[in-house]
Amino acid sequence: MTRTASHSVSTSLDRLRAEIERRNPAEPEFHQAAREVLQTLAPVLEARPEYAEPGLVERLVEPERQIIFRVPWQDDKGRVHVNRGFRVEFNSALGPYKGGLRFHRSVNLGIIKFLGFEQIFKNALTGLGIGGGKGGSDFDPQGRSDAEVMRFCQSFMTELYRHIGEYTDIPAGDIGVGAREIGYLFGQYRRITNRWEGGVLTGKAAGWGGSLIRPEATGYGNVLFAEAMLRARGEDLEGQTAVVSGSGNVAIHTIEKLAALGANPVTCSDSSGYVVDEKGIDVQLLRQVKEVERERVSAYAERRGGSARFVPGGRVWEVPADVALPSATQNELNAADAAALIRNGVKAVSEGANMPATPEAVDLFQEAGVAFGPGKAANAGGVAVSALEMTQNASRTSWKAERVEAELARIMTDIYTTCAETADRYGAPGDYVTGANIAGFERVADAMLAQGLI
Ligand code: GLU
Repeated sequence: MTRTASHSVSTSLDRLRAEIERRNPAEPEFHQAAREVLQTLAPVLEARPEYAEPGLVERLVEPERQIIFRVPWQDDKGRVHVNRGFRVEFNSALGPYKGGLRFHRSVNLGIIKFLGFEQIFKNALTGLGIGGGKGGSDFDPQGRSDAEVMRFCQSFMTELYRHIGEYTDIPAGDIGVGAREIGYLFGQYRRITNRWEGGVLTGKAAGWGGSLIRPEATGYGNVLFAEAMLRARGEDLEGQTAVVSGSGNVAIHTIEKLAALGANPVTCSDSSGYVVDEKGIDVQLLRQVKEVERERVSAYAERRGGSARFVPGGRVWEVPADVALPSATQNELNAADAAALIRNGVKAVSEGANMPATPEAVDLFQEAGVAFGPGKAANAGGVAVSALEMTQNASRTSWKAERVEAELARIMTDIYTTCAETADRYGAPGDYVTGANIAGFERVADAMLAQGLI
């Protein structure tokens, strides 16, 4: 019996998956992200023999550089803390490394590698010439004073500065890193380097080099992606009930955009439970509670009264909805949650967070015919507007909000179309996971092949 190409491609992908697990022990999230991409690549590796070149996919799953460093700092009482800092510079074939910094107690190397790996494909999908990277620390900003956060950021940047630059690596925010942290990080970079290098960080405040619409971009973009998936099925968001998880920057702007497009976003959550508000979440009140007072979501329910209730320890996915937009964190939506959403008639699920749905949940959605938008496509609006911030910094101009928003809408439409067309081209119509992975892969792989064995 002759070995078919398909057999040898899938055997070598299986071997690579096993190798990734062996060489990167104790990094389950990275294994998960790599497995999810590799399992969709077989058709493109078969159709385009140049991609089967020895070492291409092996290079793609190996970061170009991984930096791990000590971050000592003192709290307000003078106690010393020692955190760990990371920056994983994963792939720079398409442009300088680009990706956020996450400050959260759960951060470890495997988490940063999964995020950096996802970022390669996401950034490729934007079409804006940015490579993939990610960083962060196991520092927990929760309950820390501004002065403590500042001292931590200054210590973190005192090492990070030597690895970044507008042509090298451009960090931004992620969980636990917002405008306040970016401000302190930028200040320390400027002080150490004596350079006013606007393009070294994105997510800056609008008064000193930040782009308008950058805070809104991830959430707004995800809602636009969800709407594009619904339109392909002859529907739109008008009048649809939506469940949103999380209560950070992504969730807040998701809720805002859903309401603007006529949907009814009825939930938000944090690690202590969720809020369900039949009248629709009041985004101004949520902002006040989360961004001004830095309070838990239970405070929203107390303040809102009548229409809202807080469900301690509950899972937002038990609330019946037409559309679900997970916007909190990785693996927050499992098979049981997916089954509940499907039972309640969900039509579309669009990932605002990175990898919030487990692989089992994704399979269930796809088997049930639910439109599923993977984060690397659906939440790419954030990093896309970061790239537009870099463009504005490089040309020493700042664009009006309308211009940035129009660009964001155009980019999200392009990403949707690219995913849909690529899925069609590889015989998987409506499978945006396959479409996103293959389309992102083709762009990065073409650049890697052209640039030789490095
Ligand atoms: N952390 C965001 C993401 O997951 C944004 C990254 C950026 O703006 O560089 O894409």
